[in-house]
Amino acid sequence: MPEEIKTTVIITYNSVEGFGPGWHQGARLFIHSLENGWANEKGKGETPEQRRANTIIELAKSFPSELNVSIKTVDEFYIYAGEGTFASSLALMLDIAKANPKARMVLVACPCLWDYKVESVYGYNQNKDGCPIEIIPCECGGQHFLSRLAKQIISQY
Ligand SMILES: [Zn+2]
Repeated sequence: MPEEIKTTVIITYNSVEGFGPGWHQGARLFIHSLENGWANEKGKGETPEQRRANTIIELAKSFPSELNVSIKTVDEFYIYAGEGTFASSLALMLDIAKANPKARMVLVACPCLWDYKVESVYGYNQNKDGCPIEIIPCECGGQHFLSRLAKQIISQY
């Protein structure tokens, strides 16, 4: 029996260790991220918060054209959510969920304000008919966790 072939997207406003942004492993894994480092240092703006916020806005804007295929063809999305940016990351996820309601949606969240994040996701899921949003923990910044995740995804093919 042929194995099920999945397409996965990882979105983070920081970088993913060892992986640049773009398609990996043919068209199996798409990473939408910074080339390297942290958005609170590399983004545009006066303060770390502004730099992070501007990076998220830029990534959300460029995502559809960079992905270069229909969002509907993607099977699963992993989106990193840090501390001050949780609302923006969740909003981006909800936009994508609206465009592709069948996809698996996973928020990858750091421990900062963990209870608030979990409650927000549970609150959202209670009012939703389709697939629930999942939330899994990672370290602050997510660079190592998302790198391990990307390696695991690639090793399936
Ligand atoms: Zn954190």
